Formats: sequence, structure tokens, C-alpha cells
Amino acid sequence: MMMPRPNRRDFEDLEASQIYCPACRRAMPVRKRLLLVLLDRETYDYVCAGCGAPVGKKEEPLSRPAARPR
Ligand SMILES: [Zn+2]
Repeated sequence: MMMPRPNRRDFEDLEASQIYCPACRRAMPVRKRLLLVLLDRETYDYVCAGCGAPVGKKEEPLSRPAARPR
């Protein structure tokens, strides 16, 4: 009989959406807010879903190939 395995993707997703909030003094679900779009990456702001305090930032490379706006 096979052991039921937790879905790894779900787990990672859950972990990424919980960040420690100094104001709430616990790990809180966060909202990802698009902060800045650069030529090759996007900057996101993570804000606490409970109190709205900024708890982190993240840069992500653009998934689509660089399309040059001209
Ligand atoms: Zn908070």
C-alpha cells in the first residue's frame, strides 16, 4: 500500500504565502502586490493580509521573453 504524500506544490505555495509579520508577531497570510515593472523583472511587495504592514519584497524575472516596447 502506498503512503499518501502531501502535494508538494500545494505546500510550497502555502509556505510562500505565509510570512512572519512583526506587527502581528506571527506568520500571516500575505498579499502580493505588484510594485514595479522593470525591463527584465517585476518587483513585488508583500503586505500582511491582517494589518497591511509591508513584510517583504520579491523580484521575479519576467516569464515572457523580453518584448521591447518601442
Ligand atoms: Zn500583520
